[in-house]
Amino acid sequence: MSNAASSPVRLALPGASGRMGRMITKAVADDDRAVIVSATDRPGIETIGQDIGTLNGLGESGVTIADHAEALFMGNPQAVIDFTSPQVSADHARLCAERGVPIVVGTTGLGDDHIEALHEAAQKTAVVWCANTSVGVTMLGQLVEDAVRALGEGWDIEIVEAHHKHKVDAPSGTALALGEAAARGRGVALNDVADRGRDGITGERQDGAIGFAVMRGGDVVGEHSVIFYGQSERVEITHRAMDRMVFARGAVRAGLWAAAAKPGLYSMKDVLS
Ligand code: NAD
Repeated sequence: MSNAASSPVRLALPGASGRMGRMITKAVADDDRAVIVSATDRPGIETIGQDIGTLNGLGESGVTIADHAEALFMGNPQAVIDFTSPQVSADHARLCAERGVPIVVGTTGLGDDHIEALHEAAQKTAVVWCANTSVGVTMLGQLVEDAVRALGEGWDIEIVEAHHKHKVDAPSGTALALGEAAARGRGVALNDVADRGRDGITGERQDGAIGFAVMRGGDVVGEHSVIFYGQSERVEITHRAMDRMVFARGAVRAGLWAAAAKPGLYSMKDVLS
């Protein structure tokens, strides 16, 4: 619980003019436990030099968007909240490790090199890596793992997701995390059983495969279903995010938690437990 007498936790916000960056700015404005002390975005973008409060219709905040990563560390932040792109997040994690500043990485689509960078940074500072910061999806992962164990053999698992048309990675980080949860429930590695993208003469479905299907369009915030197909019956577990604010509030919660955490690699499950 927050202590009304304590100072707000100082947060740094790269990607401040992005969809999530703006939403996190609004979430922090509504939360007296946190304050944004620095903000950046990529060089050349029109929002560089703008005040993050004014940009979001919140009134002047005194924090302007800088175009270089070093600026994140002005104002002595207690945590960085990063929803940018995979290479940028990996670079920020490295900088945070050098300075001992915790970081929350919400960016999805990370490759092996980026993930390796997070593991390295986690040796020196707290890194919360979460493909989905909503409370509902975090719970969904546990539900899926439990369902896989309870259902046992003979069920075909398919994961279906839908997102807005601007999303650049597929399947979503959340769909992959749900796939990992299902694979854990079966005691297998997702990479060995994932079936990503069927097209043409694919042959019959392999027993034990975990299939992924992806839809993109409009302004869908994020929808995920894990479907278990049995003989003459079907179990579906679905989460629908209606407002990006659910991710933003979760990200702020993760930032507050990370600010007080020891070095290590953590997930949203750790934040909520
Ligand atoms: P976006 O493109 O709207 O925002 C990304 C921002 O990062 C942009 O403003 C971009 O200019 C900025 N950026 C790029 N290079 C930068 C740099 N060098 N320094 C600072 N900023 C830089 O995208 P978005 O919809 O906000 O999503 C961002 C990421 O977060 C994506 O990977 C998305 O999948 C992920 N996401 C995660 C969750 C979650 O719950 N974890 C929820 C939504 C989105």
